[in-house]
Amino acid sequence: DDIDVCGAWHVFSPGAHMRHLNDYRLTSDLREHLEELDLAFQPQFDLVSGQAVGVEVLVRWDHPELGTIGPGRFIPLAEQYGLIGTVGARVMDAALKATRDLVTPDGKPLSVAINVSAQEFRDPGFPERVSQALALHDFAPERLELEITESSRVPDLDRVVERLTGLIDRGVRLAIDDFGTGFASLLYVRDLRACRLKVDQQFVRSLDHDARDRAIVSHAISLADSLGMEVLAEGVETVEQERLLVEMGCHLVQGFRYARPKRLPELKQWLGNKPCI
Ligand code: C2E
Ligand code: CA
Ligand code: CA
Ligand code: CA
Repeated sequence: DDIDVCGAWHVFSPGAHMRHLNDYRLTSDLREHLEELDLAFQPQFDLVSGQAVGVEVLVRWDHPELGTIGPGRFIPLAEQYGLIGTVGARVMDAALKATRDLVTPDGKPLSVAINVSAQEFRDPGFPERVSQALALHDFAPERLELEITESSRVPDLDRVVERLTGLIDRGVRLAIDDFGTGFASLLYVRDLRACRLKVDQQFVRSLDHDARDRAIVSHAISLADSLGMEVLAEGVETVEQERLLVEMGCHLVQGFRYARPKRLPELKQWLGNKPCI
């Protein structure tokens, strides 16, 4: 990029050109083949009871030529090109349908956490779409949790929250995803009426050898405690991370240490085998 004459390098840079082309191609593929989206479900556990309490829904794209594409690749494109509402509605519908009759291994209602991007969440039509999906699938609202990621700023948060009051009053729960990264974490904590904080895996990864990570996680836990919120740590991979989390008072966990994301048939089989950790 040091030969940037009048910006010409940018225009003809083969790398940028290819990426642009690929993004464009991928987005139009997605628009035309939403039926290729499928869901994975990752169990969430309560360490006190040792039981699975819920699942997080993670979208996958089974592309016929490129294989499985992860959401990290196509969700940003869907957001950028105005497809996120359609993708989100599809995920919600498929997730409620798939999990409606599932119970935890000890026979309690299985809670289902669905990721909602900030853009979708701000759409005035969003609460009504959630309501309709709940009604369509006769899905108990208190089983549904919406995980809000703060990758972009939500300038009109109080208005957004106000529109969600109906859903919250009926028992739908909100979780703050990736807590501690992105925008306005503390504004979210203050204004969102969320009942759960999800501590981002970036803080969990080096927990056993980084005192700063420990301080941050421990502060997130006491903040949540003093506000009567639950804390769930994500990306837990080792016994040492688990030990430290328990010591700090975090009892809800999710991560490869316990269970990887599973497609529906595998999830059903797994739940049926009454796993316990
Ligand atoms: P996230 O919500 O933070 O989801 C957790 C991600 O960490 C998932 O990646 C999961 O597979 C991965 N993970 C879980 N346990 C572990 C672990 O122990 N170690 C490591 N290294 N990773 C672990 P995935 O499925 O690729 O999803 C990436 C992101 O895409 C999600 O991050 C979420 O922000 C977004 N996403 C996924 N599904 C949806 C969706 O339906 N709608 C929207 N808007 N975003 C979605
Ligand atoms: Ca999430
Ligand atoms: Ca997360
Ligand atoms: Ca994340």
